[in-house]
Amino acid sequence: MTAAQDDSLLMSERAIADRVLVQEYLAHEHLAKQHNKDDLRASKERIKALLQEQDAVLVAHYYTDAVLQELADETGGCVSDSLEMAKFGNQSDASTLVVAGVHFMGETAKILNPEKRILVPTLEATCSLDIGCPADEFSAFCDAYPDHTVVVYANTSAAVKARADWVVTSGIALQLVEHLAAEGKPIIWGPDQHLGRYIANQTGVDMVLWQGSCIVHEEFKVKGIDDIKQVYPDAAVLVHPESPQAMVDIADVVGSTTQLIKAAQNMPNKHFIVATDRGIFYKMQQATEDKVFIEAPTGGSGATCRSCAHCPWMAMNDLRKLEHVLRTGDNKIHIDPQLRQAAYKPLKRLLDFQPK
Ligand code: SF4
Repeated sequence: MTAAQDDSLLMSERAIADRVLVQEYLAHEHLAKQHNKDDLRASKERIKALLQEQDAVLVAHYYTDAVLQELADETGGCVSDSLEMAKFGNQSDASTLVVAGVHFMGETAKILNPEKRILVPTLEATCSLDIGCPADEFSAFCDAYPDHTVVVYANTSAAVKARADWVVTSGIALQLVEHLAAEGKPIIWGPDQHLGRYIANQTGVDMVLWQGSCIVHEEFKVKGIDDIKQVYPDAAVLVHPESPQAMVDIADVVGSTTQLIKAAQNMPNKHFIVATDRGIFYKMQQATEDKVFIEAPTGGSGATCRSCAHCPWMAMNDLRKLEHVLRTGDNKIHIDPQLRQAAYKPLKRLLDFQPK
């Protein structure tokens, strides 16, 4: 056997293993390892009762564990991206929102709903974009461009939002930047450099970029995609724009989480290689049961781990922590009222923005 055949066989085995991994994930086998099925059912029932008792609703991000997304679906909560999470929380009548995601999502819920109690399963779940954009440094960066409009991604602290003119999410960023550019406004974009570069390339708008990145999306590798494509030549490549340029270049579709789910639903392909957090497979599979989703590789071919496409902070959310906060009221999000007011303005602009 030649070295090329050897490589090809190895990759076939890896791609098949990837597929098995995804199927296992969708079958909740990972949960069965952690929970006895009866325990899982009992835990969900206790949480459902607590949600009712506490007049609470569960708002879960697409990247959280499938069992949390399932629970949100089953209890009249919401599973979505950060923009829809914010909108849902804003429109819900519940007096408590339990936000399963990362810390900035809990803060966003509190900024928009100061009268509501906002709980998060863990206060430790953060985001590399948030960590990589300290408010004082970002503010000094913005001070150097006093005539620029400051646009920040939702993945930022309340203090960074308070320094911004606009907050955006990946689903609406293109339209918003086009809108601002049409008004002749120069733009500072923060904190995700890859998303910023993607938006700049798409719109032709020259933006000043803060150099943050997402530790999950930054790791996707083109070589791994090419290898899987040898086994599944029909597979469409779905890429989140927080990924590096080389990934965007080979994508069939680039989009926000919601846009990628829609693409999986609408495209005729049987197989999809998905370059975003694997938590999204739960909703993708719900939207289209007969298709196969394969995790985009993050490790090179020499790596022991083929894919680490799961946010370590999103993974901190689990049923045990969720039940604990509902029982105790721990992990309540507090924001200084003045800071909240300042952060509210750019967020409200986002909610009111109507793309043409
Ligand atoms: S996946 Fe990336 S952008 Fe999303 S919360 Fe995790 S680190 Fe942040």
